[in-house]
Amino acid sequence: MSRKKRDIPVFDQPLIETHCHLDYLKERPLEETLAATRGVNIERVITIAVSPANLATVRELSQQKPWLYGTQGIHPHDAESYTDPCEDEIRSHGGDDKIVAIGEIGLDYFYDNADRTVQREVFRRQLQVAADLDRPVVIHSREADEDTIEILSEFEGSLKRRGVIHSFTSGPGLARYALDQGWCLGFNGITTFNKAENVRDIVRMAPIGQILLETDSPFLTPVPYRGRENAPFYLPFVAEKIAEVKALPLESVLSHTYRNSLRTFFPAG
Ligand SMILES: [Zn+2]
Repeated sequence: MSRKKRDIPVFDQPLIETHCHLDYLKERPLEETLAATRGVNIERVITIAVSPANLATVRELSQQKPWLYGTQGIHPHDAESYTDPCEDEIRSHGGDDKIVAIGEIGLDYFYDNADRTVQREVFRRQLQVAADLDRPVVIHSREADEDTIEILSEFEGSLKRRGVIHSFTSGPGLARYALDQGWCLGFNGITTFNKAENVRDIVRMAPIGQILLETDSPFLTPVPYRGRENAPFYLPFVAEKIAEVKALPLESVLSHTYRNSLRTFFPAG
């Protein structure tokens, strides 16, 4: 028996999509995706850099609409392609008007696409860039809880702006450390997956004042659109799930996560 998919809910309060990869979306033309995103009251979208090949692409995308923003940084999967010129590029554009953070950077010991020693070195170098530019950071950490804590503690004094550990799937130890240090945790469609009770436990533990909403599209499409390519306009499903898991009124989740996003990425308003 097939169930009819629910329409995407549209809320009165605006949302901010804090993490997606617009240049990876394939299912429909970008203009259509962007129009649909605005159509569900998403006020701003941050598209995330991952590789030397897409640093410039993200900068171009961030110029396309007043409400589109980007980041500059190299994902741990691509750590082995991090070079001095690449770091120069991140440094020279990390402070651009429409660039709101350094990221996504970090450690991924699940896929191990790059040597772990290289991943740690490249993570440290980019955290230093963020500290030098006084930018917040978008962190990717997968099955690397201990090393993430160790490296972030080295930067406790110098990284004033903190940022987000996005697509949080790590354990309570890293969550506790990050929350105590003033980081936000980013949650996405994973919170709607049956098997993700461990992630919902972290949602319950995190104060609503430190949660950011994201889709990480085109990956991790939320229920009830599993099987389709993910897109920023599915973000309302993530907001609803956070409200349900934390047993908070939806309005409260929307207003807090909106303000958390502003505080993290748009301190000037
Ligand atoms: Zn991502």
